[in-house]
Amino acid sequence: MSDNQANSMNISPSKFVTKITTAKALDQSISSFKVPLLSHPNENKSSLNIMETKTPDSKLTSDSKTSEALKSLTNSRKLIQETLDSSAKVLQRNQKTLSASEELEKKWQEFQDSFKQMTTQLISNIAANLHAEQRNLKQHGEQAEFSLGGLSFQETIYEHEPIKIPQAVKEIQKAKQIVVLTGAGVSVSSGIPTYRGNDGIWKMGSSNYKPQEIATWKMYSNKTEECWDYFAERYSMCRGAKPNISHQSIVQLESYCKKTNKSFTLVSQNIDGLHKRAGSMKTLEIHGNLKYIRCSNKECNKCNHLIERTMDKKIEGTIAKQVVPLCTECSSKMRPHVLFFDESYSEELYKIASVQKVMSVCDLLIVIGTMCNTSLPNRMIAGCGRKKIKVIDINPNANDNLTCARLMQLIYESDHALPKIIKCLNKKEIEI
Ligand SMILES: [Zn+2]
Repeated sequence: MSDNQANSMNISPSKFVTKITTAKALDQSISSFKVPLLSHPNENKSSLNIMETKTPDSKLTSDSKTSEALKSLTNSRKLIQETLDSSAKVLQRNQKTLSASEELEKKWQEFQDSFKQMTTQLISNIAANLHAEQRNLKQHGEQAEFSLGGLSFQETIYEHEPIKIPQAVKEIQKAKQIVVLTGAGVSVSSGIPTYRGNDGIWKMGSSNYKPQEIATWKMYSNKTEECWDYFAERYSMCRGAKPNISHQSIVQLESYCKKTNKSFTLVSQNIDGLHKRAGSMKTLEIHGNLKYIRCSNKECNKCNHLIERTMDKKIEGTIAKQVVPLCTECSSKMRPHVLFFDESYSEELYKIASVQKVMSVCDLLIVIGTMCNTSLPNRMIAGCGRKKIKVIDINPNANDNLTCARLMQLIYESDHALPKIIKCLNKKEIEI
């Protein structure tokens, strides 16, 4: 028997050997008693018969004692044998259990090793696929689907391309359907603070509000007079500003397109009206124009009817006096013609369908002075990404966060880049 077997019975090996030795000695001792027993005259009689045999008292007592000792030893031998048999069975069971346990441990270790290997391989494959897809996207700008953990993801990642003015000129010359998208950056040199910057902080009561907080329908309907003052003040500032060289260059670009039989549309997020004042013709003001006001009641027949502030002396006189003019049709309070942050685009007021129409045929989008944070400009860029329409981005700060289309980046102020582009375009035109 091995030490393990002995241990499994909770018996130390040395003690186990001692027990076995004792059992064997006892067995031999019992056997040695059998020899004289077999040679006894009453050997064929049971111990009971021995006791019943009439013999002298001393002999009877001696035989009786011997018989009892033999009987006791026989019982002890039987018990020991039973114990040994029982121990052997326990040993056998323990051996089986031990063997099964070792087998289970081995299989579990194998499973762990296999699982670890599989997981490592899986992660490695996912990483390789992602890198391959990213390389593919950056080169070809295609949409990819990732599946991970039963979830499907769609993502398009584009690597932008810094360009110089001659390449921008070349792209404009090649294009047939040009759309220009402008944002607040175009009006900065005219003294108009960016709508999203901190310059537009407005105090109402004891609190300061950002334009994003004021320019909401919720705020306008709750604090109409205060909001009216804010927009009236802002309109005063825009009215006092003058179009800058960027506005003028865009007018010249429209003229160039007209001369060269190219389609041209200006889509502006600016509400200052400076593009139109500079002379831009085909202009879609997708966020409205502070120059106009309209009825705030959406049920009113005149809710889409724009009234020019400067044309109405009565309204002009209410600027910054917390006196909100009333609609002549339904007597509701008027509101500025601007798209509030918690409102949606419409064709009637914000020309969304017109924008979609020009974008459907556009082959060059020129983005100027905007980060395209609002939804429609963002969708315009994303649409270009999907349809592989070329996009030139003129911005002093590279729009690297805008990854839904591949941008040809002209990292300049528009006041610097646009006049140079126009100059080159007109020069080439003369050369041709
Ligand atoms: Zn009305």
